[in-house]
Amino acid sequence: MRDVRIRDTLSGEVKLLEPGPDGEVGIYACGPTVYGPIHIGNARPFVVFSLLRRFLAHEGYSPTLVINLTDINDKIYVAAAAAGVPSAEHAERMIAAYRADTDALGLGRPDHEPKATETIAPIVALIADLVASGHAYESSGDVYFRVRSFPAYGQLSNRDPEAMDQGEEAGSADLKEDPLDFALWKARKEGEDTAWPSPWGEGRPGWHIECSAMAEELLGLDFAVHGGGSDLVFPHHENELAQTEAARERPLAKIWMHNGMVQAQRDRGDAEKMAKSVGNVFLLGEAVRAHGPEAVVGFIVSGHYRQPLAFGAGALEEAEARNQRIREFFREGSDPPGDPTPAVLARREAFLDALADDFNTPRALAELFGLLADARREPLAGARAVAAELLGLLGLESLAEGRGDEGSEEAEALLAERERARGERDFARADEIRDRLGELGWDVRDTAEGARLVRRS
Ligand SMILES: [Zn+2]
Repeated sequence: MRDVRIRDTLSGEVKLLEPGPDGEVGIYACGPTVYGPIHIGNARPFVVFSLLRRFLAHEGYSPTLVINLTDINDKIYVAAAAAGVPSAEHAERMIAAYRADTDALGLGRPDHEPKATETIAPIVALIADLVASGHAYESSGDVYFRVRSFPAYGQLSNRDPEAMDQGEEAGSADLKEDPLDFALWKARKEGEDTAWPSPWGEGRPGWHIECSAMAEELLGLDFAVHGGGSDLVFPHHENELAQTEAARERPLAKIWMHNGMVQAQRDRGDAEKMAKSVGNVFLLGEAVRAHGPEAVVGFIVSGHYRQPLAFGAGALEEAEARNQRIREFFREGSDPPGDPTPAVLARREAFLDALADDFNTPRALAELFGLLADARREPLAGARAVAAELLGLLGLESLAEGRGDEGSEEAEALLAERERARGERDFARADEIRDRLGELGWDVRDTAEGARLVRRS
């Protein structure tokens, strides 16, 4: 079992991951608030933490990945009203869309996907404990966390409490003892169509307490890794940390791991086209439909998880071009017989070490391309077998399996015929061929470099 180190936001240090006695590693990553379809930025933690789980399992650990679904939230009430459906129904629809969009990435599901609406009893019990111990107080049916009762508050986000803003609605200011306090429970308001009973009256939980309760329910306390996007450090994770530690006198997690944001970027020139492309394809479902799941996963692993990732027009095409080089490597030859050579094994070690060193996927990817280059210079036993194993750790195993976008001979011949038909402006014939390819399980994508075949998943 390789030692794995991850940068911990709380201490600012790269820390050794400490598994439980049987190698178990609990990972809790904050999932989406289900009010609309998710975009590439939301897909990043899903990809990063799903692949971290894969890597840990590969190294012999026993990881458990929890990614929650926040299905109670102001944004859901607003979006449901706009859609003209009850908020519970809207949330269920968005959960189905989220599952379909993330399923298409081909990375499997997290081990647990708890919903806030199904965790109400543990949430209420945790709030009651905080009230009993003086860390929280009731005010007109709301319950607030008393931030000044937890002197370590602010340690995760490294902020001065005086300069903090909980970002809560103005109406709650009069109910708080201190502007710094934040809501654990909110009394039912006019127009809200979901509510649950509690010792403080009908209402619903605040966002932060949901995650403290769901994480403890599924992983216990002091579990290995609490993750999420860097935009969640304050207030969400600062508040999760404070609630749990105040109530339980034990830390919630050992390592706080945060991924950087995906930033939509407009390139110089051709601004209109960029805006359109970025605007549409920024949705995960659109990106996968337009470029295939391998391009999306390849784009995400091309950056170190902690760094911001620039998403401009061309980002997915670049990832797809890299993927294409990998597919060609598998297509163009086979390994000589025998066990992997020392050179192949050295690349494998360097790849795995890169992932063990703060999950450095770009360095791992560079080692993989190094392996491909080595094997192109001279055939190396085990090169393709090892490359396939390593691709699996990046969620790109389909590139080695010949799935992806290279067609059968029949499909390639049909594609060429379609190109000819289009050249002759015989669009009816071109459409007919496209339909025939569809029956054979291929989509045709018209790209700047010409038409390509993409296997339907
Ligand atoms: Zn959370």
